[in-house]
Amino acid sequence: MPEAAQGTSRKRLFIGLIAGTCVLVCTLLALLWIVPYVGLRNIHPAAPWVLGLLLGALLLLVLWASLGLLFSVILPWHLPLAKRVRGVTVKLLVPMMSLLGRALGFSKEDIHTSFIKVNNELVLRELGRFSASRILLLMPHCLQNSRCEMRLTHDVDNCKRCGKCPITGLLELRDRYGVHLAVATGGTIARRIVVDKRPKVIIAVACYRDLSSGIQDAYPLPVYGVLNDRPFGPCLDTTVALDRLEAALQRFLLA
Ligand code: SF4
Repeated sequence: MPEAAQGTSRKRLFIGLIAGTCVLVCTLLALLWIVPYVGLRNIHPAAPWVLGLLLGALLLLVLWASLGLLFSVILPWHLPLAKRVRGVTVKLLVPMMSLLGRALGFSKEDIHTSFIKVNNELVLRELGRFSASRILLLMPHCLQNSRCEMRLTHDVDNCKRCGKCPITGLLELRDRYGVHLAVATGGTIARRIVVDKRPKVIIAVACYRDLSSGIQDAYPLPVYGVLNDRPFGPCLDTTVALDRLEAALQRFLLA
């Protein structure tokens, strides 16, 4: 399937799951109000209304977040406080959407990939441009050739630039634009690198699973995700399309 068509179908899946999640949560919240209403009067005459107001506020929050997200993705419209939409999406809607998607039989890969696609669109809309020193290219360890013995985690410049893996091209990209480049073996090291470099935006390469969890872990720091290619399966001698990475870099870099 062409990349543009794939992107559209992933977006459609995400929108469908968000809409389903919204209906489910709103129905549950409405039920939560109706059921105690029958008995709450016996505790205090005002108790049903207090509970109703609380649940009504929650229901409005879910509706606002879902509609805000749908408008942001489909149309160039923003509801009030639209900047918070990415946060509510990442923290609240995505976990629920994942559960619903799994229950409906969608694969984890489809669900996570659709989330990454929509996250990228929200990040592109939300963010401006930054100086090179505030942009971090964060790479997974599996891009390094599995037979290479150089230790890149502490210093990516230990690479001898032999050209046997994408690290050579990534170092050239770093040198051309002056951005930060780091290789992480896991979430803990990635967090340490982020604290050390203090970027305004991370352009991260990883598989769908690590990207999805990384985007959620890093929030509120924005992460633009680029999926790696896995010609030998997960975690072994993976690759990345450097032209896509460079295009993302140019989008966030001050002219
Ligand atoms: S380019 Fe060569 S030296 Fe550098 S990490 Fe890859 S295999 Fe190792």
